[in-house]
Amino acid sequence: MNVADSQRVASALERLGYSGTRRAEEADVIILNTCVVRQSAEDKAYGRLQSLRPLKEGRPDLVINLMGCLVGVKGFERLQKRFPFVDVFSPPSDPGPLVAYLTQGESRVLEQDETDRRFSWMDEELSSESPTLLLPLHERGQLVSAHVPVVLGCSHACTFCIIPYRRGVERSRHVGEILAEVRSLVSQGVREITFLGQIVDRYGKDVPDGPRLSDLLRLANVVEGLERIRFLTSHPNWMTDELLDTVAALPKVMPHIEVPVQAGDDEVLENMKRGYTAQDYRRLVEKIRSRLGGRSLGVSIATDIIVGFPGETDAQFQRTYDLLAELKLDVAHLARYSVRPGTVAARRMEDNISKEEKMHRFRLLETLQEQIATEINARYLNQVTPVLFEQKVKERWKGRTGTNKLVFVETERNLAGQVLPVRIEWTGPWSMLGRLPDVSEL
Ligand code: SF4
Repeated sequence: MNVADSQRVASALERLGYSGTRRAEEADVIILNTCVVRQSAEDKAYGRLQSLRPLKEGRPDLVINLMGCLVGVKGFERLQKRFPFVDVFSPPSDPGPLVAYLTQGESRVLEQDETDRRFSWMDEELSSESPTLLLPLHERGQLVSAHVPVVLGCSHACTFCIIPYRRGVERSRHVGEILAEVRSLVSQGVREITFLGQIVDRYGKDVPDGPRLSDLLRLANVVEGLERIRFLTSHPNWMTDELLDTVAALPKVMPHIEVPVQAGDDEVLENMKRGYTAQDYRRLVEKIRSRLGGRSLGVSIATDIIVGFPGETDAQFQRTYDLLAELKLDVAHLARYSVRPGTVAARRMEDNISKEEKMHRFRLLETLQEQIATEINARYLNQVTPVLFEQKVKERWKGRTGTNKLVFVETERNLAGQVLPVRIEWTGPWSMLGRLPDVSEL
């Protein structure tokens, strides 16, 4: 979500005539787009902000913009007191305050521009000559895979999560606006779009009779030039049969589902206020596999797990371990619980699992997941599978299978943006190596 937000800001600034630089010392405007999902991310943001203070003192005309979840959607008075050298504070996903600050005086023109764009979104008649979201210059014609936020905020209340407080209540974007953005990105060279939402399957549910995620996928599926569509993150309670059937039926929608379980013990899940049981999750995984497993190499599933949630006993952790061992999912994003001030868990639950124990549980799951991923990926050995290539990284072209596995291929050819069959010759838990097969092999 933050990468997409940063692109949006960079694009807005380029429309004002700015261009990017890699060195903060050369910049006229510095934007710090922040994440607070973990305490370490928040600490890093504060550290970086402090490190910018001498620059601002040396050059008072430098504009510093603090953006994102650290600022949140409510007031920012406390931050203003603590960091008086920051010129502009912006909530997540909103370049507006910075653009307004930089353009004061010109704002009427921009407002008109904004109104015009809204009307063209409504007409859904944007041509490729009038893209609605211009990528930053260095990404135009280069970026193969882009993110498009479709639902902003979240109205759930998982007890460990700070996001609803920082990104506000759930709001779905207009379908015409999203599609115009997709077409615009495709006209700039993008081949793969990932629709984003904290609970992306809830797209449209906040709008009476609004289109649903499956409708959006169907509409995106016919966008010419777009090769692949993905979406994340799902929530076990909102993944409907209709959505799964739509994914199965649409050739451009990739068979990869990101659906966090967070814990494998029902009492921990209840304390997290996730709204489902381990058995519900088990049934969902079975359903995803039976409905989407028809494609060659099947469907891949990624999950998120938090270890060391307040009060998590050894036996409860063991149930999470056992669930992961049983379900054998392709990817598990692991996190050690950390207190997020302002959340229900921070107010009402004691963070009573030691750092060492959290690390111990984390390592156990990490080792287990490494074995599972090694086993799953080994099934790709000697198979030929389509890969969308993104960029060259140290002499090798990096791309992804439909199931979102990372593949590297060594070749002199320029593969950017192409979907090509690749024969897999080596597999590991986190990536694979392959080669472009001869025509005779296909
Ligand atoms: S569903 Fe829960 S974890 Fe996900 S963003 Fe909403 S509150 Fe946070």
